Amino acid sequence: MKFVSEYRDPEAARQYAERIARMVTRPWTIMEICGGQTHAIVKYGLDALLPATLTLVHGPGCPVCVTPVEFIDKAIEVAGRPEVTFCSFGDMLRVPGTSTDLLAAKANGADVRIVYSPLDAVAAAQAHPDRQVVFFAVGFETTAPANAMAVRQAEQLGLTNFSLLVAHVLVPPAMEAILASPDNRVQGFLAAGHVCAVMGYTEYEPIASRYRVPIVVTGFEPLDILHGIALCVAQLEAGRAEVENQYARAVRREGNRSAQELIRQVFTVVPRRWRGVGEIPASGLGLQAAYAAFDAERRFGPAAAPRDEASECRAGQILRGVLKPHECPAFGTRCTPERPLGAPMVSSEGACAAYYRYRRSSPDQTVPAGAASRD
Ligand code: SF4
Repeated sequence: MKFVSEYRDPEAARQYAERIARMVTRPWTIMEICGGQTHAIVKYGLDALLPATLTLVHGPGCPVCVTPVEFIDKAIEVAGRPEVTFCSFGDMLRVPGTSTDLLAAKANGADVRIVYSPLDAVAAAQAHPDRQVVFFAVGFETTAPANAMAVRQAEQLGLTNFSLLVAHVLVPPAMEAILASPDNRVQGFLAAGHVCAVMGYTEYEPIASRYRVPIVVTGFEPLDILHGIALCVAQLEAGRAEVENQYARAVRREGNRSAQELIRQVFTVVPRRWRGVGEIPASGLGLQAAYAAFDAERRFGPAAAPRDEASECRAGQILRGVLKPHECPAFGTRCTPERPLGAPMVSSEGACAAYYRYRRSSPDQTVPAGAASRD
């Protein structure tokens, strides 16, 4: 694993941190968009290496966390039908709906299966023509191409027993919603490298210029993140607001045009409610009319109405960077991974789960400097 270890070198991390400390002359708040970046920051104690005046807040880039309550309710309703085999990534099974979750539905007899790819669900539909196979299509621009591919493959195979329950969301509208919010504190963004590997970063350029915020496309290893922070701080200190690409080894400005074309062929942009945040215009993907036959909502008509998160859960504030997980009164007491009140405590990319896993005993303290060497 020599290649990965080079991006986790503690001495190089310290040098980046010193460089950042030399640049910072006043308080700044930077949001990392992606839950994978949040977990790396918390796991390796990267924030402990930074000056106290530089605050990292955690963004909405956890697909499980932002899937709204009513979509979990719809999933449970569809999964409960006797003719349905409901396929999902494992993370979604313990996300609370209004009164229960998919894991409980499975325990009560629903045919709910964990899959690792939407193509596994297509294969299940092909193997079991007597079953209606539904795939729970959640996530950002990163998972949309594979889900589009599954629909295209089902069409080519002539499958009439395969459909998607689509709850896709898009990153740029969520960034704009955060920046336009009256309680916004974000002054710069680390954009998610894998989303940009698909979509490129031209969509971010008008946001950077309209809201005067630097946006740095950033990877996921400790040195990627510290490098991204250094680039963002340099822009903030210089009064610049541009899009920069730290993750050039994986991201091109134009992104992956084949994947984008596949998304455009199968999906269309729709308004979408985000868990804990509410509706954001043009922030989701739904199936194109030409693929309506693969739409589980049309096929089964689940009736779940829009619902809010459990009243105690502060997920909306966590996902907008207004609160940190340990500032939620339920953190680690009434809300734990075993008994989660909200999705950010369930997901492997959730900020609350990261704080619980790595900082439960001292959530408001950071891990000592040097932790970047831990695996
Ligand atoms: S700790 Fe639990 S209740 Fe609080 S915001 Fe996170 S998920 Fe919601």
